[in-house]
Amino acid sequence: MALPTQLHLQIVSADRSLVDERVDEVEVPGVDGYFGVLPRHTPLLALLGHGELWYRQGQDKHYLAIANGFAEVLPDRVTILAHVAETASEIDIVRAEAAMKRARERMSAGLSDIDFERARVALLRSIIRLQVASHVRIRS
Ligand code: ATP
Repeated sequence: MALPTQLHLQIVSADRSLVDERVDEVEVPGVDGYFGVLPRHTPLLALLGHGELWYRQGQDKHYLAIANGFAEVLPDRVTILAHVAETASEIDIVRAEAAMKRARERMSAGLSDIDFERARVALLRSIIRLQVASHVRIRS
């Protein structure tokens, strides 16, 4: 059997399918850090954290914001089951900026540990969304 030269990438969130494409490379935000996947990668299962996922098709890179879920890697395919995911062009920048401001205000308001942690994660989500959205703005 021929060795795979591309990956079949599927990205699904709780309520929809976002990506179903043949790609050359993927970078995934694992809970323990980012990892890259090329065709013929060793099979693995990973927990997703909060972060930016990108995939490359030739010279073109595409970006998504991801929050939690699972990744399954096989030599010829990557499946991402994300709790929350948005493509760069879907991200509402005004909403992400408002979420960032809200989270910062909460973090400086002397909260309990649990609420501080919740605000910290909300801040992280908003920063990731703004970072992912910036790729669309740079290219246009
Ligand atoms: P917010 O405080 O603005 O609701 P959040 O981080 O609490 O942000 P999530 O719980 O992560 O939001 O997501 C809830 C839903 O809203 C998901 O479907 C997510 O894709 C969508 N969403 C959240 N923020 C944005 C954004 N800035 N642009 C587009 N969709 C967003």
